[in-house]
Amino acid sequence: IKREDIRNIAIIAHVDHGKTTLVDELLKQSGVFRENQEVEERVMDSNDIERERGITILSKNTAVYYKNTKINIIDTPGHADFGGEVERVLKMVNGVILVVDAFEGPMPQTKFVLKKALELKLPVIVCINKIDRPEARPDDVIDETLELFMDLDASDEQLDCPFVYASAKAGYAILELDDSPQNMTPLFETILEYIPAPEGDPDAPTQVLISTIDYNEYVGRIGVGKVDNGTLCVNQEAIVVNHHEPDKQRKVKISKLYEFDGLNKVEVKEAGVGSIVAISGISDIAIGDTICSSDAPNPIPFQKISEPTISMQFKVNDSPFAGQEGKFVTSRHLRDRLFRELNTDVSLRVEDTDDMDSFKVSGRGELHLSVLVENMRREGYEFAVSKAEVLYKHDENGKLLEPMELVYIDVPDEFTGVVIDKLSQRKGELQNMGMSNGAYTRLEFSIPSRGLIGYRGDFLTDTKGNGIMNTSFDGYAPYKGDIQYRKNGSLIAFETGEALTYGLFSAQERGTLFIGPGERVYSGMVVGQNAKTDDIELNVCKAKHLTNTRASGSDEALRLSPPRILSLEEALDFIDTDELLEVTPKSLRIRKKILD
Ligand code: GDP
Repeated sequence: IKREDIRNIAIIAHVDHGKTTLVDELLKQSGVFRENQEVEERVMDSNDIERERGITILSKNTAVYYKNTKINIIDTPGHADFGGEVERVLKMVNGVILVVDAFEGPMPQTKFVLKKALELKLPVIVCINKIDRPEARPDDVIDETLELFMDLDASDEQLDCPFVYASAKAGYAILELDDSPQNMTPLFETILEYIPAPEGDPDAPTQVLISTIDYNEYVGRIGVGKVDNGTLCVNQEAIVVNHHEPDKQRKVKISKLYEFDGLNKVEVKEAGVGSIVAISGISDIAIGDTICSSDAPNPIPFQKISEPTISMQFKVNDSPFAGQEGKFVTSRHLRDRLFRELNTDVSLRVEDTDDMDSFKVSGRGELHLSVLVENMRREGYEFAVSKAEVLYKHDENGKLLEPMELVYIDVPDEFTGVVIDKLSQRKGELQNMGMSNGAYTRLEFSIPSRGLIGYRGDFLTDTKGNGIMNTSFDGYAPYKGDIQYRKNGSLIAFETGEALTYGLFSAQERGTLFIGPGERVYSGMVVGQNAKTDDIELNVCKAKHLTNTRASGSDEALRLSPPRILSLEEALDFIDTDELLEVTPKSLRIRKKILD
């Protein structure tokens, strides 16, 4: 049957194009709020980091009512896809609303999610928002949006999508520019008319695929998914089974069920086909599990969550200056917080290490981990992190394999040269080059994940902030060999074998270089590299002990605080003597260490 009383939609928007305001407004007008009740918490309020980086990290759900229909609105993560999250979320819905600023037009950051939606054959409603802005240019923006659709191989039906003009701020939507503004009704109507109702067989055995996990201190893990077939009832005996591990079935009793209502979850006794439900009380519920009738354990096939490819050590800050920047500083604080993160982030791993004060955290790319680092710092955690390292594997013959990424870059024409140059030095291979949106050129590279470590900062500098970079995991491939690259004309950094031996980091503001394993850091100017031996020569200006790496191993963000100047003799204590070739009062020469 078709559940005509339900619509499940996802909302896609570039940061600041008005997604939160729009959903707030739909909530207000759907009668969820009483007249004098303020919207206390903004529904899909992105946190600061999301805003800064132009991505959305968590998917959140809201439900609004219009006429006799419940509209479940699901927020989509922005362009960064941490382990297949975008696809999982989109599989719960039957259509999407693309919110586009009437002045800025569609932004390349939303492309990744939009492309997935188009591939999944979802119908799209384009909502041209901020139509009240004096500089709004809705006609151009419609053209640009259609161009983008064609670029992403939209089908004819998708190209024939409805356009709705809106001012979320003023609380209205209109279908034609000269319509007189009233309220959000035209948008509600378009949703009902254009987005298909969810379908399923209510008499078939129950199947609910868990697509996201929520976490609440009081009830623990909460699985969220859509009822594909059958019904789910409180007190029902059910079986939890995963498509990828069919033998690992668990019998459970459904104790608590919720549906979304406005900003809240409300308890329900039963949920039918097409409903988006939340289920608490199954402590080990995981993304990709299917909740099935006890007599028909048929899991729904599900894209495997991609494995972590990169790791970093999170360490207690043991410098004498610890405790100045945060209130949570102990190993216990750090450990609890990291393990708590696992409740909601399926693509993250956290492991204890031999050192009680240090934890190995692995995730899907440098951005993934750096978002976590920044979130924790903002919450008041103070800790140090190591440089990111990729996770290698061996094939059955023992050959070294390394993670690869596909990188999609959109840049104004004038910057293509520097981008190609830099990425080639980092073992990137240009796969495709073409026009993208408007004045941008689209470049696609295949590159070892380690080649991207620390690249984001360079990219921002090189493109003067005008470039957009998206990456997606592309499996493991044979090790591509050492990377040697020069940075800002003077930096030589190199990685060998399984580990970074000595990396040279640039601190742009000082024009100096820091070198050293782990947190032992020296600064100096590279003066040359011996072409025959590969030895690197640097002039040591000062050496400092790095006490507080402020970022996630991305070299551009390394900062010394507080700097302590060491004498050259002191600095030498930190260097393996067999690495050292020559020391003079002004320079030291080290050997490039080859591990394999
Ligand atoms: P989000 O990042 O997509 O969730 O965007 P927000 O909803 O937070 O909106 C970003 C900014 O745009 C806020 O300052 C809003 O007040 C403003 N805004 C949202 N909708 C409109 C609109 O229709 N017209 C105008 N002029 N501003 C809007």
